[in-house]
Amino acid sequence: MAIERTLAMIKPDCVKKGVIGETLRVAEEAGLTPIAIKRTRFSRQQAEGFYAVHRERPFFGDLTAFMSEGPVVLIVFEGEDAIATWRRLLGATNPIEADEGTLRKRFGTNIERNGFHGSDAPETAAFEISYLFAGLEVHP
Ligand code: ADP
Ligand code: MG
Repeated sequence: MAIERTLAMIKPDCVKKGVIGETLRVAEEAGLTPIAIKRTRFSRQQAEGFYAVHRERPFFGDLTAFMSEGPVVLIVFEGEDAIATWRRLLGATNPIEADEGTLRKRFGTNIERNGFHGSDAPETAAFEISYLFAGLEVHP
């Protein structure tokens, strides 16, 4: 077990649903510490940069339109195995397939508008955190 950081995001559908407080409660209860939080809105270009690894996927255009349609909440969580812990709390990419009680099952809309993001590896977490936060905004 190692202390890690992960980039979590509440996507526009779930910001609209009003589940910011519940999301933080679930994460804190699982031992994750929010060490940086901000509410912002992506331009289309910023959404494309965030999801650049998916550029060739057929859903890239729809996904980046969705991700820039309204505000998002960005959170850096720190804790033991933060990357896997947060993804476990999210559940599967498709809310229909996600385990009972997971955040995507409870609040996600569909496979694209699935409510939440979580980094999938230490390298992607490092890229995503540096893409979205300045060093002075992150306080362990
Ligand atoms: P995850 O967010 O679980 O890591 P991926 O990295 O595979 O999933 O995909 C990134 C995001 O793209 C997903 O969270 C979801 O919003 C969207 N997405 C994934 N697969 C599809 C799909 N088949 N159709 C539409 N949108 C998708
Ligand atoms: Mg992913």
